[in-house]
Amino acid sequence: MKSIANVVIEVSLDKEFDYKIPKKLQSSIMIGSQVYVPFHGRELRGFVVGLKKESSYVKELKQIKEVVGDRPFIPNNIIKLAYWIADYYCAPIENAVKAVLPSVIRKKGIAHRKKLLASLVSHKKEGLSETQKKIIDLLNKQQEMLISEIKDKIQCSDSPIRTLEKKKILKLEYKEIRRDPFISSNLVPTKPFTLMEEQKKALDSICKQIDKRTSSAVLLKGVTGSGKTEVYLQAIKYSLELSQGAIVLVPEIALTPQTVQRFKARFGEIVAVLHSNLSDGERHDEWHRIHNKSAKIVVGARSALFAPIDNLGLIIVDEEHEPTYKQEESPRYHARDVAVMRGKIENCCVVLGSATPSLETCFNVQEGRYYNTELSQRVDNRKMPHIRIINMALEAETIGHPTLFSRELVDGIYERIGKKEQVILFLNRRGFSSSLMCEKCGYVSECTECSVTKSYHKFDNKLICHICGSEEEFPSKCPNCGDPNYKYGGSGTEKIEEILGKLFPNIRIARMDSDSMRIKDSYQKVLDAFRLGKTDILIGTQMITKGLDFPNVTLVGVLNADISIHVPDFRAGERTYQLLTQVAGRAGRGDIPGEVIIQTYNPKHPAIKAASKLDEDIYSLNDLIFRKQMMYPPFSHLILITFKGPQESTVIKCIDSFYNELVDIIPASVKAVRPLPAGIKKAKGAYRYQIMLCDEQTVKMTKPIKYLLDNVRFPKEIKVIVDVDALSLS
Ligand code: ADP
Ligand code: ZN
Repeated sequence: MKSIANVVIEVSLDKEFDYKIPKKLQSSIMIGSQVYVPFHGRELRGFVVGLKKESSYVKELKQIKEVVGDRPFIPNNIIKLAYWIADYYCAPIENAVKAVLPSVIRKKGIAHRKKLLASLVSHKKEGLSETQKKIIDLLNKQQEMLISEIKDKIQCSDSPIRTLEKKKILKLEYKEIRRDPFISSNLVPTKPFTLMEEQKKALDSICKQIDKRTSSAVLLKGVTGSGKTEVYLQAIKYSLELSQGAIVLVPEIALTPQTVQRFKARFGEIVAVLHSNLSDGERHDEWHRIHNKSAKIVVGARSALFAPIDNLGLIIVDEEHEPTYKQEESPRYHARDVAVMRGKIENCCVVLGSATPSLETCFNVQEGRYYNTELSQRVDNRKMPHIRIINMALEAETIGHPTLFSRELVDGIYERIGKKEQVILFLNRRGFSSSLMCEKCGYVSECTECSVTKSYHKFDNKLICHICGSEEEFPSKCPNCGDPNYKYGGSGTEKIEEILGKLFPNIRIARMDSDSMRIKDSYQKVLDAFRLGKTDILIGTQMITKGLDFPNVTLVGVLNADISIHVPDFRAGERTYQLLTQVAGRAGRGDIPGEVIIQTYNPKHPAIKAASKLDEDIYSLNDLIFRKQMMYPPFSHLILITFKGPQESTVIKCIDSFYNELVDIIPASVKAVRPLPAGIKKAKGAYRYQIMLCDEQTVKMTKPIKYLLDNVRFPKEIKVIVDVDALSLS
């Protein structure tokens, strides 16, 4: 009899503790059970991660107080996964455990929602009042109905309902009502399409992997509109036929309700949705539908990867190249890579889909670790958009001054709108202008807490820091020299909207970025209006590059393709290429062929040239040679260690001493870059310095890092962040 439990407690100790299992709880405590235990005079929540007969702890063990639920909340395989995450990403185990279970499930308080429902037991109407008769007629049409709904429809009080209950004509009962995050009023069920040749081949190779019931990863590369989602849908159908469940990860799901809709339309009620925009109640209910096995498919953002799907047969990671799959707080895991790991643990197939796969995934294909299938054409042989590059330096020379809109773009917009078609304009910068500079003294308004300039937002006439969010009123004159001609340089979405309004006075324009979208549901409103043709031009940031499908959009303009090139990051080229290709994919989704105009000051940059030909081979070849020389990912794993603190000198002192000790104990193969200020050196009042490490094997770096972090003490105000496989180098 194993009467001792190893428990991970939800406080930051990165340790397991032994507790005795009282007799009455013996049968209900399993690995993965959520429990409450006494801990230093308090009662804390924890999870059982192991069971054993004996403890090596010298003092007498305390007893587990309480167990929650009759089945473990975390299946064994996910506990294994949590341990892998903690180890690989250098995170405390309790953080990993927290990551695999939604907080609303961990907390006490949110319960299943029950409501009072009425149903008919008898149809007798003699001696009833008019209102009472109306209630019976209403219930005749439906098996049961919410009391609140009856009152609403009949416009009556509680009393006729109570009377009917007393007369034993109605039965009143509390029943569980699911909080459904999905408004499915106009959902039309769909049937599988007859697949195109390439889709068939892709589906076959995925099904072959599913059949094997061993772990495997398949890259499904396909341009936007090539029918990847249809392949996912049919692969899932295949898994379901084998009684296996599936998980579909999509980036930023709140922006792509269309995707969720397609899964619901094909599979109905057995689809659960998990993403950050759900209310606590909705998330609670959706999670329990998965846990009690009534949902077999989960569609969701990053954390949906940990859904306790029973007998998992397939994991799909759509848009696998998306940086949003990386979690920005501990545990800093990458959902795509953890998906592959979950596939290994569950012996199931993992499909990675993208039009522009990450170089990491391409490399894994090259090395023979992942299978590869490709959809090279759009469904119905719709043409890929025609792409034109406009050299903005040349344009400025010709017309005599710099401009935001080239003549080609202006003409293009006129032409398309004239034909009642629609236009998307893409700009990777929100706000009105990037920074504010005094033309007389050169003063730039910088955030006092962060080492970046503040952006001008015309709508509320404010200067806002995009790092910490602090704002101030726009000064009427230069704060430094008092010059009243204080002006703004650069340009953001807000300014584009204004200029565009002047250029095309009769055209309906909408803007979509994180400023205009602060209110929940506003995405949906803007997108719906655009889809219904109520607006002609949609201006937006990155947000509009993802997965949107508007058949009437025939022109996409990229106003300044250069912004993402000038980021000091070895992935800048890859990002630019991906971004441009995704934006371009928004054009020509319907019957009319699309057109893309890319404005740039760097027409010869490999990423821009490659995007214009929609050919990533030119691009990735170029980039891969460079990365191999530098031993950057995908040829190595990269770890970024950041030290943060309020005093620059203390930060430097601590990171220097850490670095010196680290280089003494890391293997010689590890490439270590000495401490340097971070790209954004000061953020939210904290100075930031970084050490970068690269090696083919992560563990050669993480082991010594963990050892040092456990054994050196820093002043309390110094924060150390270890980011394994870091994506952002700022
Ligand atoms: P992707 O996910 O690669 O962007 P989708 O799966 O969304 O592509 O397909 C694009 C469009 O083509 C969708 O409207 C989809 O319903 C349709 N489609 C996909 N496969 C087929 C097919 N075999 N026959 C007809 N239409 C299809
Ligand atoms: Zn700031």
